[in-house]
Amino acid sequence: MGDLRDLLHWSAERAADYREALDDLPVFPTDVDLDGLRGRLGSLRDEPTEAALVADELAGLVEPALVGTAGPRYFGFVTGGSLDAPTAAEVLATAWDQIAFNGSTSPAAAVVEEVAGSWLKELLGLPVGASFGFVTGGQAANTVCLAAARHHVLAEAGWDVEQDGLAGAPRVRVVANGERHATIDRTLRLLGLGTGALEPTATDAQGAVDVADLGRVLGHGPAGPTIVCLQAGNVNSGAFDDLVAATAVAHDHGAWVHVDGAFGLWAAANPATRHLLAGVELADSWATDGHKWLNVAYDSGYAFCSRPAAHLTAVSYTAAYLTGQGEGGLRAPSDYVPESSRRARGFATWAALRQLGRSGMAELVERCCALARRFADQLSTVAGATVVNDVVLNQVLVGFGDDDETNRVIDGVQRSGECWMGGTTWHGRRLMRISVSSWRTTEADVDRSVAAIRAAARRA
Ligand SMILES: *Cc1c(COP(=O)(O)O)cnc(C)c1O
Repeated sequence: MGDLRDLLHWSAERAADYREALDDLPVFPTDVDLDGLRGRLGSLRDEPTEAALVADELAGLVEPALVGTAGPRYFGFVTGGSLDAPTAAEVLATAWDQIAFNGSTSPAAAVVEEVAGSWLKELLGLPVGASFGFVTGGQAANTVCLAAARHHVLAEAGWDVEQDGLAGAPRVRVVANGERHATIDRTLRLLGLGTGALEPTATDAQGAVDVADLGRVLGHGPAGPTIVCLQAGNVNSGAFDDLVAATAVAHDHGAWVHVDGAFGLWAAANPATRHLLAGVELADSWATDGHKWLNVAYDSGYAFCSRPAAHLTAVSYTAAYLTGQGEGGLRAPSDYVPESSRRARGFATWAALRQLGRSGMAELVERCCALARRFADQLSTVAGATVVNDVVLNQVLVGFGDDDETNRVIDGVQRSGECWMGGTTWHGRRLMRISVSSWRTTEADVDRSVAAIRAAARRA
């Protein structure tokens, strides 16, 4: 056992060294020789290697090629850092090696998910009676939610999709915000509904659903099984659909309403941004991420459903599916997700919520939004730069001259190693896309990043 203890101490030290260096390391390693890395990783050996050597070799090879997504100046996609308590919880969870399947494989994991799930509902303003599943991320959460939706709308039409599949089933319409996240489309493929089922709505100037057009689209097609996909937090602009009005229109047409709130749902945890989610509790299902704004390590997401029976019928496989109560009367986490054997994700979620508390979560959301506004304010003073979205949350979109120039600025910034932000095409224009989602980011990090952008813009 001495060897393992030494090895885990070593790993912890190495991990701490890495995290402490994040402030100074290049945010993206630009001059890494990946072919060399591939070569040094070697070929499969016949003989075993001592564990301590393996860990040392792996860290030595990989660390120079790591991307600073856990650091303070990574603004690509929507990327949280990992808070300290959930990071420690993940280390322990790996060592504990629990099977978070049900109450007999791991009573502790089952109970922790149950408690953390109810905390999440409270924080996000979702109905107390909603069911929930701990999944890998927004994609998986959208898939679980829309599987529940598919079950429900087809059951209402007298069709048992779990037994009879989709061949010969009534057609399911999926009316979605025209700027939905692409994971909705993949979900429709995976669920056999097909992207051909999609009827996109018009959006407003910020990419929020045009509610009048939603009503028009719904009224235009045949009545029947219908799912409406709304968005809380447009992945480019951060815009929120008007959930009160859009949900009312959708429910008037008998539709199931799903809200993709991969990062935007967290606005509910902050009193100053909560109004953006007015009416969120009226929907039928909700998807969000843990690895974005909650700042737990990858990967982590949550699917919530206002109709637990639909949720369970769609994804569970136990005989006790109607209650979701498995061995020992405990909630069975695997009844709410597509996985059977699975990692215990609840520990990190519980740890993050415990570390932050209600006030810490509110402050984290508020701080990221304030830093996004700081970006917007400072970037508007950079020659040739234009902030093109209303910065209502943590997302900032900025263009430089024409599309080619914008691409050159993005490329220059990424190569600088000072910070990392991606590009996007939105409303026909190439833009730099900035998302402030990490607990680590400070005003000084924004200022340093703006300086890097300013320098790249001067060279472009
Ligand atoms: C990130 C995101 C997703 C996908 O989430 P993953 O965690 O990458 O699976 C879905 N919808 C929106 C709005 C997102 O921002």
